[in-house]
Amino acid sequence: MSTDRSQALKQIRDEVWNLKKSPLYQERVNNQTLPVIGEGSHNAQLMFIGEAPGRNEAKTGRPFCGSAGKILDELLASTSIKREEVYITNIVKDRPPSNRDPLPEEIAIYSPFLDRQINIIQPLAIVTLGRFSMRYIMEHFHLENLLSSISQLHGQVLEAKTSYGSIKIAIMYHPAAAIYNPKTKEILQKDFQILTSLIK
Ligand code: URA
Repeated sequence: MSTDRSQALKQIRDEVWNLKKSPLYQERVNNQTLPVIGEGSHNAQLMFIGEAPGRNEAKTGRPFCGSAGKILDELLASTSIKREEVYITNIVKDRPPSNRDPLPEEIAIYSPFLDRQINIIQPLAIVTLGRFSMRYIMEHFHLENLLSSISQLHGQVLEAKTSYGSIKIAIMYHPAAAIYNPKTKEILQKDFQILTSLIK
């Protein structure tokens, strides 16, 4: 089972590596950076979904390994959840130039890979990090009627149906929002405490 998952995830990695139709592919080649596919347990109960790789991530090929990652690590450490037990990925797998917001066409090109990652790993809960992830996942799971601003929805847990059963969706601010804002960090710390109740 785990080998099947690893095989299916490796297939995604190979396809993203060769995603020449993406406008971000040429950027990757020009800048000699790496795609960031995802990292963590292939049997994870919790799947964290960010927006797109930043500079450090594109340099190393690892999600959330720069300053936002340091905050994510601190937030995880404040719960009993270990980083290696969860799976961490992004909607967009290549770095948008100058860390700009991902464009709708970039989300459209990369999101089918995310959908497949969700179906392969079959997490009990998805944790959305930031407004792009919140919007994509809520629309994907047909919860668009509940969409509102992230300042309204952060800390909430929604429930949706998948082909393999029900799934919880926990909505969080993006850890990068806490880098220069201690108030947001406090909110994230409080919101993260609900995550332990979502896993077995
Ligand atoms: N921000 C994200 O959304 N994802 C990363 O992997 C790093 C920073």
